[in-house]
Amino acid sequence: MTPQDLRRQLEYFQDLGIKDLYKRTAPAEPAALPNRAREQAATNPPNPPMELELPGLAPANDTLPQISADIGDCTRCRLCKGRNKIVFGDGNPESKLVFVGEGPGADEDAQGIPFVGRAGQLLTQMIENTAAKEGIPLKRADVYICNVVKCRPPENRNPEPDEMEICGQFLFRQLSVINPKAICALGSTAAKALLGGKDGVTKLRGNWHKWKDIPLLVTYHPSYLLRAYNQAAKREAWEDLKKVLHFVYD
Ligand code: URA
Repeated sequence: MTPQDLRRQLEYFQDLGIKDLYKRTAPAEPAALPNRAREQAATNPPNPPMELELPGLAPANDTLPQISADIGDCTRCRLCKGRNKIVFGDGNPESKLVFVGEGPGADEDAQGIPFVGRAGQLLTQMIENTAAKEGIPLKRADVYICNVVKCRPPENRNPEPDEMEICGQFLFRQLSVINPKAICALGSTAAKALLGGKDGVTKLRGNWHKWKDIPLLVTYHPSYLLRAYNQAAKREAWEDLKKVLHFVYD
């Protein structure tokens, strides 16, 4: 990669709002170390140097099939080890509204489609029932749904920051290609991936934010709403959904 290419790539990440790139540095060559350290390095040879893996640059005329092809049979992070299927995204690629979740669960990993398990069924019902009640003709297939990470985290744990950053480049490209009128972030992981801060749902929900120039609303993740004690959160999620649907479809 030439210095010009590298500069262009770094500018591209800045535009996307990516601030931290993980650089794994190779250990210093023994000759560059002081004597004691050099002896130690000789008896404990350093790990092989790791490559600095910069995420790929979005091509000029990017498309969803191109992004999917670039993901390929991905082995960029440890999540590839336990996955059955990469879960790229589902729905209308020209949708005016995109929902972003956290990462696939067991059902999604088996089927390769986001939000098809219990949380997914709740999300589908919420979208379709809220739209119907508000007089908006909208089905799940009319919106686009995807996740921050495309492979299932083991035991459904939260994705790690490096996994989010590596896979986030593909999410950002998906959002840039679809260029919806609004984004709805489901839960804290999606909110953090898209807004870059540390705040969680309780702090962020209810107000409009922006991903690049696209208005973004944060609401509760449907898995959270499935827990019986979250009645108040259900009401709030209903309000959030009404807000985003009217903004996009009125
Ligand atoms: N939870 C998510 O965040 N995404 C899915 O696709 C399923 C469950």
